[in-house]
Amino acid sequence: MTIAGNKDVRVRFAPSPTGYLHVGGLRTALFNYLFARQQGGTFILRIEDTDQKRCVEGALDNLISTLNREGLHYDEGPEKGGDYGPYIQSERTEIYRKQAEELLAKGHAYHCFCSEERLEELREMQRRLRKPPMYDGKCRTLSSEEVSRNLHDGIPSVIRLKYPKEGRVVFDDVVRGRVAVENDIIDDQVLIKSDGFPTYHLANVVDDHLMKISHVIRGEEWLSSVPKHIYLYQAFGWELPVFVHLPLLLNPDRSKLSKRQGDVAVESYLEKGYLPEVIINFIALLGWHGPDDRELYTLEELEKVFTLDRINKAGAVFDIEKLNWMGGIYIRKSDVAYIADRAKPYFEAAGIDTGDREKYLKVIAVAREYVFCLSRIVDHARMFYGDVDLTDEQTKLAGEESAQRIYAFWMEALKKRKTWTKDEVNELIQQGIATLGVKGKNFYFPLRLALFGNTHGPDIPTLIDILGTDEAIRRMEACIV
Ligand code: GLU
Repeated sequence: MTIAGNKDVRVRFAPSPTGYLHVGGLRTALFNYLFARQQGGTFILRIEDTDQKRCVEGALDNLISTLNREGLHYDEGPEKGGDYGPYIQSERTEIYRKQAEELLAKGHAYHCFCSEERLEELREMQRRLRKPPMYDGKCRTLSSEEVSRNLHDGIPSVIRLKYPKEGRVVFDDVVRGRVAVENDIIDDQVLIKSDGFPTYHLANVVDDHLMKISHVIRGEEWLSSVPKHIYLYQAFGWELPVFVHLPLLLNPDRSKLSKRQGDVAVESYLEKGYLPEVIINFIALLGWHGPDDRELYTLEELEKVFTLDRINKAGAVFDIEKLNWMGGIYIRKSDVAYIADRAKPYFEAAGIDTGDREKYLKVIAVAREYVFCLSRIVDHARMFYGDVDLTDEQTKLAGEESAQRIYAFWMEALKKRKTWTKDEVNELIQQGIATLGVKGKNFYFPLRLALFGNTHGPDIPTLIDILGTDEAIRRMEACIV
């Protein structure tokens, strides 16, 4: 159902700028974007860079340019602005500090002065006892005098959430349904670190509220953080957003998608020349399906049909075979000129001059039949440029007596005219077969070898059409021994 212009729908993609855009990140961005567009709402980009150690120089520019290349244009965010900025968390630290003060004042948070060594010992002990690592609450009960004294003495401290130890929290997630979690497994999360920066949890909740986020759509790995977030919303007296946790992305062996089993950076797929629209189409189907079993969608089509209720609960396998299948379909169904333009950088990198546009378009029309991404197109096109290099075995085949007679026939025939239509070349083929008494692969293989450097490939009229009469003759001449 489309709710025309539902201005209250405000969603955000909130990545940490750690270098490249993970395919899972693109999926989160895409689902947020699609939901916003389908609902007529607002799509926001917010940069969560409070963990300064993890931030990488240039990552923000890269992120924005990758989102743009994929067509996921945001309505509010860095560089673009909006009414709820700044949209970069490191520029909002004062806001988080104030909110943390409020939690302290209301008794929902406390100062913790435990040293790193103590925390490490605690974790070590818990590891030995096979217990989950958790803060033991030592500083929960410090008196206000002790806290003041420690602060006055400059003992390094963090601010922790005073999470209740009893009871359970129950909440609804659009994908997971009703979720219940026992409170005693929830840690007293650090909210403000000793360097004064907030952790993800505090900054995320504060910003989602201040930026009026209506739906929190993100990966399933964040589901376990929801109880802490809910507690924060309640402590501040704020309304909860709707939670939507997207299913995990999996390797083909159903383990969690990882770098070790293949590429996970969107940029590297773009570099290989997977069309941006293929990546979008493929990613859209990772954990979502349309109203029927249709598989091919443009971004515009997805913007119309996307709904949250068709997001699956089960993990979605990142199947590279399927991506490649889709890649080939798009490359073949797109405009030849469009593919030619996008493929050009790969030809330039290979040192191939594509200046003869007419020839280049013909080459692309043939070469694209064999590929699923543009970087591979050069391998199926280079034989139309420069010289044909034959292997020893191929040279032997070309040197055979019947092959030599075939070349002589063609050189003689082609010399008669400057241009030949495909029908005319087909007629020559018939004549050649009749005159030389050679047929089938004995006729075609040597011919294709001379013209194309391979016994298999495009048909002879196509090859002669692309190469032109002169070049076709030159190539056969080169095979004469
Ligand atoms: N900064 C978090 C991330 O990188 C955002 C999680 C969320 O959307 O709440 O995934």
